This record gives sequence, C-alpha cells and structure tokens, in this order.
Amino acid sequence: MHDAIIIGGGPGGSTTAALLAVRGWRVLLLERERFPRFHIGESLLPYNWPIFEELGVLPELQAAGFPIKTGAQFHLGNGSKSLKLVFREGRFTEQPKTFQVERSTFDHILLKNAAAKGAEVREAWQVRRFEQLADRVRVEATAPDGAPHMLEARFLVDASGRANVTGNQEGLRVIHPALRKIALFGHYTGVALDAGEKAGDTVIVRLANKWFWLIPISATKVSVGCVLDGAELATAKIPAQELFNQIAATSPVVRERMNSAQLVGDFHTTSDFSYYNRRLTGPRLLRVGDAAGFMDPIFSAGVFLAMFSGQLAADTLDACLRRPFGTGWRFARYERKTFHALHFYWEMVEQYYTRSFMELFLEPREKWSLPAAVNAALAGELTGRWAIQWRMRLFFWLVKIQAHLPLVPRIRFD
Ligand SMILES: Cc1cc2nc3c(=O)[nH]c(=O)nc-3n(C[C@H](O)[C@H](O)[C@H](O)COP(=O)(O)OP(=O)(O)OC[C@H]3O[C@@H](n4cnc5c(N)ncnc54)[C@H](O)[C@@H]3O)c2cc1C
Repeated sequence: MHDAIIIGGGPGGSTTAALLAVRGWRVLLLERERFPRFHIGESLLPYNWPIFEELGVLPELQAAGFPIKTGAQFHLGNGSKSLKLVFREGRFTEQPKTFQVERSTFDHILLKNAAAKGAEVREAWQVRRFEQLADRVRVEATAPDGAPHMLEARFLVDASGRANVTGNQEGLRVIHPALRKIALFGHYTGVALDAGEKAGDTVIVRLANKWFWLIPISATKVSVGCVLDGAELATAKIPAQELFNQIAATSPVVRERMNSAQLVGDFHTTSDFSYYNRRLTGPRLLRVGDAAGFMDPIFSAGVFLAMFSGQLAADTLDACLRRPFGTGWRFARYERKTFHALHFYWEMVEQYYTRSFMELFLEPREKWSLPAAVNAALAGELTGRWAIQWRMRLFFWLVKIQAHLPLVPRIRFD
C-alpha cells in the first residue's frame, strides 16, 4: 500500500508528490494525460520562487529560457490610464521576480522532478472515483489499456485541477454567481512588447466588463487572451476567434500591440467560472490547487496557489504519517490556511470587477504605503503579515467609499 496517492500531475500534484517523496514516503501520482500537454495559466508570481528552490528545479527552469517577469502592467482599454508595477520597488515585497512559462514545458519539468525525487508517476491513468475506508482510501482508476484498477493508500491528495474529481463526487462545488466567465485565447508571434526588462511584464488591459492578458512565454511567443461573460459568446452567435478579434479591435491599446500578430497553433475557448469546494479536507483527503478552488485569473495567482497548497499538503501529510495522532487538527489547519489564501484572491477578483477598485488601483497615492501593500499582495505575499493585512483592509474600505464619494477622479472605459 502507498502512503499517498495523488490525483493529477499539474503544478499542485507534482509539488506535493516531490516534497513527500523526498522525505521517504511511498507516493503514487496518477495523471490522466501524457506529458508534455497543453495547459493555460502561464504567468507566475514572485513568491513561486522559494517553492522552486525547495523543489530543486531552479536550474532547469533557468535553462528552459523562460522570460523573466519583474512587474505587471494594468491599462485601461482606451489608453487613458495605466499603472506599471515593479515588484522590487514594493517595500513589503520580498521576492522581486519570477518566470513567465509555456505550461507544457513547465509542468513537464515539475512532473519529471517528482519522479526523480522518488514518486511513482503513472501517465495516462485516469481516476474515476474514491472511497473512504476506516484506515485508508481506495481509488478506482483506469489504466492506459482501459483496464480498471483498485489502488489503496493511507492518504489521498486531490490535485485534479478544474476536473475537481473528489469535490464533484461529493457535490461540494460552489460556483460564484457573478463570475461565470469564459476565456478566448491563443499563442501569437509578432506581438509588440515594451523594451528592456518590461518586455517580461504581464500586460492586463481592462475594458468595461472584460479584459485581455498579454503574457510573453518564450523569446518569440506571447499568450493573448480575453476574459468575458460566458453569455456574451452565446448571444454573439459568431465563432470565438472572430469575437476575440472584434473585441481586440475596440481597444487602441490591444490593437497597437497586436497589429502584426500571427496566431501560432490552435485558438482555444475555455470556461473560466470561479468556484470553491465547501470542504478542502476529508478524513484522509486533502484538496490542492484548483481542486480546492479556482478563481478568475486576473491576478495570475492560480499556479502559485496550487504550489503553495501543494507544499502545505506535503508538510501536513508528512507530519500525519510520522505521528498517527493529531490528523484532525493538522487537516483543520491545512483547510484554514488554504481557505485564507483562496479567500484573499477571491476578494481581490471581486473587487477588480468594480469601477471604484480600478479608479483607486490606477491612481496610487503614497499615503500609508497602500501601494506597497498591494504590490506585495500581487506578488503572492500570503504570510499574513499585519503590516500588509491592515493596509489591504483599508484599501478595500476606500474602494467602498470611492463607489459613492470620489476620492480620486472617475475613469471612463469607453
Ligand atoms: C483562462 C485561464 C487563464 C489562467 N491564467 C493563469 C495565469 O496567468 N497564471 C496562473 O498562475 N494561473 C492561471 N490560471 C490558473 C491555472 O491554470 C491553474 O490555477 C493551475 O493550473 C492549477 O494547477 P493544479 O495543479 O491545481 O491543476 P492543473 O494544472 O489543472 O493540473 C491538474 C492535472 O490533473 C489531471 N487530471 C484531471 N482529472 C484527472 C483524473 N480524473 N485522473 C488523473 N488525472 C487527472 C489533469 O490532466 C492535469 O494535468 C488560468 C486559468 C485559466 C482557465
């Protein structure tokens, strides 16, 4: 019997598997695809960096030649206002940079690292369902030849991403009523980027009720996507790529950058509904990454949250495997910390879609070092430092006030 079975070999599953295996536990990771495989979610956060160090993958990531991200830019679609954020300039931000990645390569590096650290990795194995027994968990999985198998372990980690295998089986998923978005996207060459260090920035362009990302993922390729209400594509009754081009043409900022752009590979459409599971743990189960919760990717936090919770899950299970007593409170602590991280970005995303948030966000005033707290939060500072927490709470209060009483000038999206 294994000590842990992990469902899914994305960043969350690979992180948990590597960190458990390196401590000598018998880990089985089941991944339904064969890697390398396409995945969206290419802009990372600076606080990913210490996790790369712990995993020992920095040399490989550096050798892969991924662009370095040292900041993020937020523009209004009409070009009337913008904010260029530089992580190292944030007083509370301890990590100044990260990578922008092509996920097929990045995820493969992490998965191979999990195997190199001693995890048994089986690709093209799909988990169907799980069953909780008194002292272990049982998983029903289909092998590459289609044969069903029953596999058992002392603990189960669900890192199945938005497939949300165990959360769906238990009916735990809660979908955000207002954030029923879709994303239309592709990889492009010939996209105009800024010169020098800023060429590695994530560029976000905000329109009235939708937004674009532009993320350089290699020396030549830029990922460009548009997030909009799901209903808009349904009512437009035109192909997704045509709608994407039409929306891009309405923004001078996007138009200017995409003037000479050429699509490489397929154009994609995916649902982008924000959700969380009501419980992130079961008696012998931890949910990690998108299998815990997923939110609109505006702040590029998904991979970071997957690896952060993967790291926390590995620490939690390591302690539980060593000392059989205390699993209950350790799981409760895992759930509390992971919910806290999810909730933080969830609140940021909800605020982002309000006009008053954008008004204050794009007009930073140095008072009380509020921009420095926002900088740290957007870099992935989740340690709960009080200096950041009270400033973020104050910032959200100011956003509420700004909705009724303009503290900074109003913006126009048209
Ligand atoms: C449009 C869009 C844009 C995004 N942009 C960003 C971004 O810029 N930055 C960012 O950080 N995040 C972004 N994200 C979010 C990011 O993609 C995810 O948060 C991240 O991939 C989560 O990692 P994970 O390991 O939890 O899940 P995944 O990376 O999804 O990995 C889950 C793995 O589980 C496997 N699996 C699924 N079901 C089964 C099964 N039954 N059996 C076995 N294996 C299974 C899958 O094949 C997959 O490999 C974006 C998401 C979307 C939708």
